[in-house]
Amino acid sequence: MFSFIRHHFGCKAQTFNCTYNLKPGRRIEILSNNHEADSVQLNAVQYLCHATNYLANMRARLTHTIFFLLAGFFLHAQKLKKPDKEIIANLQKHISYLADDKLEGRRAGTNGETLAMNYIGDEFGKIGLSPKGTEGFFQSFEINDGKKINDDTYFSIKGNELNKETDYFPFAFSANSSVEAEPALSLQEGDMPWFFNLKETLEENKDNPHFDLIEFIKTKASGSQKKGATALIVYNTSAIDDKLQFEGKDRSEQLKIPVLYVAKDPAKKYFKDVAATVAIKIKTSIGEKKRTGHNVAGYIDNNAENTVVVGAHFDHLGYGEDGNSMLRTGEKLIHNGADDNASGTSALIELARLLKTSKAKNNNYLFIAFSGEELGLFGSKYYTDNPTIDLSSVNYMLNMDMVGRLNDSTKVLSVGGYGTSAQWASVVNAQDKKLPFVIKIDSSGTGPSDHTSFYRKDIPVLFFFTGQHRDYHRPSDDADKINYTGELSVINYINTIITNLNKENQKLAFLKTRETQMGTRSFSVTMGIMPDYTYDGNGVRADGVTEGRPASKAGLKAGDVITRLGDYPVSSVETYMQVLGKFKKGDKTKVTYKRGAEIIEAAVEF
Ligand SMILES: [Zn+2]
Repeated sequence: MFSFIRHHFGCKAQTFNCTYNLKPGRRIEILSNNHEADSVQLNAVQYLCHATNYLANMRARLTHTIFFLLAGFFLHAQKLKKPDKEIIANLQKHISYLADDKLEGRRAGTNGETLAMNYIGDEFGKIGLSPKGTEGFFQSFEINDGKKINDDTYFSIKGNELNKETDYFPFAFSANSSVEAEPALSLQEGDMPWFFNLKETLEENKDNPHFDLIEFIKTKASGSQKKGATALIVYNTSAIDDKLQFEGKDRSEQLKIPVLYVAKDPAKKYFKDVAATVAIKIKTSIGEKKRTGHNVAGYIDNNAENTVVVGAHFDHLGYGEDGNSMLRTGEKLIHNGADDNASGTSALIELARLLKTSKAKNNNYLFIAFSGEELGLFGSKYYTDNPTIDLSSVNYMLNMDMVGRLNDSTKVLSVGGYGTSAQWASVVNAQDKKLPFVIKIDSSGTGPSDHTSFYRKDIPVLFFFTGQHRDYHRPSDDADKINYTGELSVINYINTIITNLNKENQKLAFLKTRETQMGTRSFSVTMGIMPDYTYDGNGVRADGVTEGRPASKAGLKAGDVITRLGDYPVSSVETYMQVLGKFKKGDKTKVTYKRGAEIIEAAVEF
């Protein structure tokens, strides 16, 4: 499951009240960005509240839980029929492989992803599915990984080449160009590189919580360029730690001159005598960083008119390099993602096996294991934009994301997407007392997982999820915590839904639903858009716009790109979150957005 919790963007500690069953007056502290909640997937606050709540109750429940778990296990073990035992044994095999340390957390574009996709492809092959990717079972797609400093970037002072890793870096918004000159450090002459010591600025603003050093440098650089500077070189001789580093996720527009930062030691060495001139040679080269992710797709052709898509993402967080781990210690630990989402991937394989021999043949079946989900639904978005079957023939899509932790005491199975077709009511009955779990229905067709991509193509969806837990997006999401009998019951339930719909033998009619508004509106305002996390241009592209909310009232439509809110430039989803944190409910400002080549400015009220 995808979560927008990135912490490489300067977080501030926040204290707030947690309302999740904590004792009155008890407060917890979390580290978090000021998230906009707009669909911004499951947010840190909720989860930490859940986690704290869980921990608070856990001790008291532990004895009971162990007792009931054991009792339940033996009861189930006795009652299980042979096909069910086979499913459980297979699930154990799949999950223990996919969530093994050897796969290093299955991060999209890594060797761990390759091992996982080969395993899934092999399983699909053994079951007898036909390949439905673009390269056999696989479909590769590009993941924009921000910017990088290309190898040909070069900086020398007085003939000594500086080290890119330790001595200097060009900012991500720097121009790509070359400069050779011998400027005076203290003079700001036309057609020459300029130098700027951040010392005074940092000292003046050391108690100013609203001061944004990067924005300051950007403004300084574009101002210098207008006055004739051919480059801007900044350094810091103050005792204040400026924390500046190359920020690959910075998607603000490139300036017209190179802008470089020189670290403390070389600055001390070369810029000591401000009256001197220094011979410098600069070549800045900032490039796009890309990774390749892979979906795995297998097909059962029943010569039917319509196809049912069953999906689950198989990628996870790796070592947390993408900033989406809940682990805040900075340790490099493998996130095995047994529940998220080795559980759903294994369920996908088992459903494929069951449906291969099923009598329900009024549909074809397409099974897709998606990658790039944890980065923002990259794989499913790519698939729905580049499908290998005709999407208009898709009857409905079922998505499983985190189905391995059915709680033995609450027994809640969450079913999302219920509002995406009126016909779901005929097969999903939350009142059914015979079910081994309690169904919690959510009507929205959008949410923090891959069904959202299919919903956006007007396809009815259901989303299965056994609920949050304290191991979510942590290295402790391991195979030994999976509730295998619970997952078996989810698989059998989904199989029943497919079989029952097969009897009706008709294509489901699609209905639009509200957009999921996840997150906390308590400490930030929202615009009511669903950001496109795969968009790599400058700004925030709206994948969806919720009726009646500020963005929609300001005239925004899906596909528009927000570039500015009030005085603040919006270059990426991250800056968008930060900027929203600056507004309060009732504030009025202007939103600037692009629609194709057109730039539109409109009033917006939060
Ligand atoms: Zn996840």
